[in-house]
Amino acid sequence: MKANLNVSPLESWVNTDGKPLIIAGPCSAETEEQVLETAEGIARNGYAHIYRAGVWKPRTRPGSFEGKGEEALPWLQKVKEQTGLKTAVEVATPQHVELALKYGVDVLWIGARTTVNPFNVQDLADALKGVDVPVLIKNPVNPDLALWVGAFERIAGAGITKLGGIHRGFSNAQETKYRNSPMWQIAVEFKTSFPDIPLIGDPSHMAGKRAYLAELTQRAMDLNYDGLIIESHRNPDEAWSDASQQLTPDALGEMLNSIEFRNATYGTDFQSELDRLRARLDNLDRELMEVLASRMAIVEQLGEYKRDNNVAVLQLDRWKHVHQSRAEWAKSLNLYPEVVEELFKLIHMESIRKQTEVMNRQTV
Ligand code: PEP
Ligand code: MN
Repeated sequence: MKANLNVSPLESWVNTDGKPLIIAGPCSAETEEQVLETAEGIARNGYAHIYRAGVWKPRTRPGSFEGKGEEALPWLQKVKEQTGLKTAVEVATPQHVELALKYGVDVLWIGARTTVNPFNVQDLADALKGVDVPVLIKNPVNPDLALWVGAFERIAGAGITKLGGIHRGFSNAQETKYRNSPMWQIAVEFKTSFPDIPLIGDPSHMAGKRAYLAELTQRAMDLNYDGLIIESHRNPDEAWSDASQQLTPDALGEMLNSIEFRNATYGTDFQSELDRLRARLDNLDRELMEVLASRMAIVEQLGEYKRDNNVAVLQLDRWKHVHQSRAEWAKSLNLYPEVVEELFKLIHMESIRKQTEVMNRQTV
């Protein structure tokens, strides 16, 4: 996917000393004490650059806590004064933008439920014309990369260059391990298509539960994300929203300490080793392709034989046998059986297609 976007580097608006950007803070601003005490804990731990707090909360059903609104904005001003942390809030309407800017919020983010709606995003873009403020755009709740990119185009169209993406996962139709499925391949495609847009992982909204935060954070760091946004609350179990996924500021510190932060850049020794390993991969991939080509040549012969003997293309017993034996071979080779199964489904589909083509080929 392509789009012409003018994006300022992350370092132009926040100083992280080359480390991943860390945004931490409660799902929602509830009371002045809760906002300040949580911020103090986060600042004391020293890992965060920006303090987040939801002031307007998009809730699935009415009747849940919908945020304190304008009343909470002076609390965030106090956070800035007392801790030196920058602040970030979610904006969903032009009025939110106006108020957030009036109270000196440093960074705005567009929530997943807003990114899905081009009308809303355009309204925000119009409100942001002529304003120089960083805007982070969460992925839409549905796995649609184009919709996410469209939101960037609209906001960039308003002249905003300090942009970032937040990967918070995609909602599920069924109950799954995570509250929102990461679908890492979509974020990887985003990253490869738009290498200039900083990408921030939101393990909190992917996980839905504290227990999964570390594994999702590690995954984001292994994929070389530029930062993280993680929910933290002075007393998570009592939080007015997203209680089960928040960590105390100290527990967040411990969790971050358990993460391996890998190097994004490397020296020349490393580079030559990398080149050597990549060259070996290139060779192996070529061999894989040659093996596939030989396999297809045999499939073609098989198709001709079936045609001449008037045998159907698909024999279920044979397919079951292929299916089982390949999964067992995979296990004995330490490969994931599920992955091998997917691979063979593809190979088998192509084999059926080829044999059908041979069946219908005119014989001379
Ligand atoms: C949030 O960050 O608290 C939030 C509402 O997230 P999302 O837009 O990802 O659902
Ligand atoms: Mn939340």
